[in-house]
Amino acid sequence: MRLTRYFLPVLKENPAEAQIVSHRLMLRAGMIKQSAAGIYSWLPLGYKVLRRIEQIVHEEQIRAGHIPMLMPTLQPADLWRESGRYDDYGQEMLRITDRQDRDMLYGPTNEEMITDIFRAHVGSYKDLPLTLYHIQWKFRDEMRPRFGVMRGREFLMKDGYNFDVDKDAALHAYNRHLVSYLRTYERMGLQAIPMRADSGPIGGDDTHEFLVLAETGESEVFYDSQITDLKFGDREIDYDSVDQCRAVLEEFTSRYARTDETHDGALFNAIPEERRRTARGIEVGQIFYFGTKYSEAMGATVQTAEGSKVPVHMGSHGIGVSRLVGAIIEASHDDKGIIWPEGVTPFHCGIVNLKQGDAAADAACEGLYKALTAAGLEPLYDDRDERAGAKFATMDLIGLPWRITVGPRGLAAGVVELTSRRTGESEELTPEAAIARIT
Ligand code: ATP
Ligand code: MG
Ligand code: MG
Ligand code: MG
Repeated sequence: MRLTRYFLPVLKENPAEAQIVSHRLMLRAGMIKQSAAGIYSWLPLGYKVLRRIEQIVHEEQIRAGHIPMLMPTLQPADLWRESGRYDDYGQEMLRITDRQDRDMLYGPTNEEMITDIFRAHVGSYKDLPLTLYHIQWKFRDEMRPRFGVMRGREFLMKDGYNFDVDKDAALHAYNRHLVSYLRTYERMGLQAIPMRADSGPIGGDDTHEFLVLAETGESEVFYDSQITDLKFGDREIDYDSVDQCRAVLEEFTSRYARTDETHDGALFNAIPEERRRTARGIEVGQIFYFGTKYSEAMGATVQTAEGSKVPVHMGSHGIGVSRLVGAIIEASHDDKGIIWPEGVTPFHCGIVNLKQGDAAADAACEGLYKALTAAGLEPLYDDRDERAGAKFATMDLIGLPWRITVGPRGLAAGVVELTSRRTGESEELTPEAAIARIT
């Protein structure tokens, strides 16, 4: 992409309404524009990051054997009357009436709708296990929408639902989700710690939230510092293996890590004092096992191998796709701007032409642009007729992992400058060597 042809409305001033760094940087980098409280347009740069996060979520869900689909944003109230949640859900639910006077709602989550789909089409244990998921916009009329996309009212969520014949099988699905989530967050450059949580309005016994540690997080968390040494890394996992998935769950949940909702002072104080940590965290996902809560209420049953009919065992599993954009920035920025992890960056590298209009500099930039594109990377070429300082400031703000700076002086010596956004270190290299370094 050439910057002169792109739409990147960066702001020079810090927007007064932004209280936390990710919100400020997303507005300044021209990633989002607020349309109403907690409702945002995703401008091209923000949209690219959102799509990359979504792509990672899809890849990891599919790898775990979960099946993508798409349910609507609007739901009939009657489904929620069946589960009893139409009245229970309260003011976060946006209720809508259509022209026929039918009660509708903008889905805050999809347990009822997926259970309705399941009961219409599945009746035998032979069709299990089954996990269906979608990535769809949700609406929750939050009391205090704030922090930009971190607590929006309209937000993008991956929500998945497992259907299993009994509790053991459903707990395997739970463990499989935990593993897939660890992989997902690590690919985004994040450490998200599974913490024992409270089940809230979804209901259920087993649940973990995934929290990214950050000062601006809305949750208070308590943990054993040893947990931050754990990495899933690039280990191979067989998602069908009950033992392998359980072992990962045990490894990642055996140390104390809880949110304030489930915090237990006595257990916490049993940890050696030097390992006790109290911090703040951003909830970027949650997994639940809730058994037959919805299947019993809505009559979703399956026939077992022995011929009896039992309510199907279920769980639901969410990832805050749009919240993650803010969470990644909270975890990765400096005073000049965003520092995108390679896995989610909107463009792989920036090309800065120090002297637009200089024949040699223009030709070298065009050459780099073509070669990077041919290598499968997406460069953002700053071809504006602007001062070098302004071009550097824009690149630092939008946080691409690499910048290649091209100017007549370097070219006379046969080199360009390659700069890492994360370390700030620069190297002088031939254009070919610079390309080789980042591909
Ligand atoms: P929170 O405690 O932050 O209100 P939640 O526990 O109500 O979140 P879940 O029902 O667990 O949310 O939804 C799954 C995920 O969706 C959350 O882990 C979070 O990452 C994301 N999410 C929830 N509410 C919002 C929101 N208002 N804006 C953006 N993302 C959200
Ligand atoms: Mg909530
Ligand atoms: Mg929560
Ligand atoms: Mg939650």
